[in-house]
Amino acid sequence: MKIFKFGGASVKDVAAIKNAAAILKAFSDQKILLIISAMGKTTNHLEELIHAHFNADKEKTEKTFNEIKEKHFEIFSELIPNTEKHLFEQFEQYFQHLNTTLENTQLDKNFDRVYDQIIVFGEMLSTFINATYFNYIGLKNSLIPAADYIVTNNTYREAKVNWEITERKIKNIDFENQNLIITQGFVAKGNEGFYTSLGREGSDFSAAIFAYCLNAEEVIIWKDVKGVLNADPKWFDKTEVIPHLSYYDTIELAYYGASVIHPKTIKPLQNKNIPLRVKSFLNINEPGTLVNNDRVELTVPSYIFKINQCLVSISPKDFSFIVEDNLKEIFEHLSALKIRINIMQNTALSFSFAFDYKEKSLESFVDLMKKQYKVKYNLGLELVTIRNYNQEIIEKISHEKSVLLELKSRNTIQMVMKNK
Ligand code: ASP
Ligand code: MG
Repeated sequence: MKIFKFGGASVKDVAAIKNAAAILKAFSDQKILLIISAMGKTTNHLEELIHAHFNADKEKTEKTFNEIKEKHFEIFSELIPNTEKHLFEQFEQYFQHLNTTLENTQLDKNFDRVYDQIIVFGEMLSTFINATYFNYIGLKNSLIPAADYIVTNNTYREAKVNWEITERKIKNIDFENQNLIITQGFVAKGNEGFYTSLGREGSDFSAAIFAYCLNAEEVIIWKDVKGVLNADPKWFDKTEVIPHLSYYDTIELAYYGASVIHPKTIKPLQNKNIPLRVKSFLNINEPGTLVNNDRVELTVPSYIFKINQCLVSISPKDFSFIVEDNLKEIFEHLSALKIRINIMQNTALSFSFAFDYKEKSLESFVDLMKKQYKVKYNLGLELVTIRNYNQEIIEKISHEKSVLLELKSRNTIQMVMKNK
């Protein structure tokens, strides 16, 4: 059995969904479990809804709700003729359910919990639309709720999987009389009985969870790019597909922020030696990228750019050294504030790190530290990570920039830079 994953771009509009159906037809003789994300930018749109709702902004909530409904309705009614009344009724029920959820969460002060109860509708709507359309054109499938299978703790928005229970549940999925089973990415359920989510872009991880528990033969992530590229085309003109990657290098690339695959995806696959393919949904015959346990040398340099970085530098006011105790305190605050460090360095008297700038997180962090520490920071910086670098590349990339912090290992260089 294979696990497929269609991300937001693969199902973003009518043409994309028809293309997805064509891909599935080409594999109709095989058993496939298909994980689908929210359509296009729906998750961002739902985030707007959630903020408006949480801030009790009735007008904005209603407006955003209607926009989301209209967008999905437009696509659904282009795929399914309106004579199929019962399907439209089922579709309508999702929005009634969303409405009820908004009502029921009005008094909940736990933002992250409220967030998860609403954010999951992106995947619910998307899987319903796709599964219904596929059935309608004769691609028989059944839709199963991911929340009935993936069980997590109650860390809303970043839930941790309970592997034991999850595995037991997923193993019960009955493939006997069906070739295609569809479910939601990103969505899970906590043991309080509420929805949880696996972190933004978490659908890849969902695919890996199902693959692990079902001992799948392979996972294919279908994307709008030809495979894993050596750089983001947003920043680079010339990019190339990396045809073959080790699990190891893939984790490293994902860790440094290559937006190819969610970083948590690789571990479950590596643990069971399940190969991963990243392929273009626009050209299914191209091989894309194969990720597996083979030892493969990265032959081309890979670049990972992150903009909008904030570089923070902390030093104790009393001129004491930065030692384990200070580091422990610093990391506890960072962890509580969910600040994810992209690069760090410490010297005798200071500790520096860069993260994706968020005004609130920075403010809270500075507040916590300022009593005992001098905190300096720098905004609007770039972080570039190059795997497989050489001197010529470094010079090209840092030309006309000043480098504020640099870390180098044999394979990887990271530089925090600003324009001169
Ligand atoms: N829809 C979710 C997101 O946009 C999960 C995913 O697409 O992987 O973050
Ligand atoms: Mg996505």
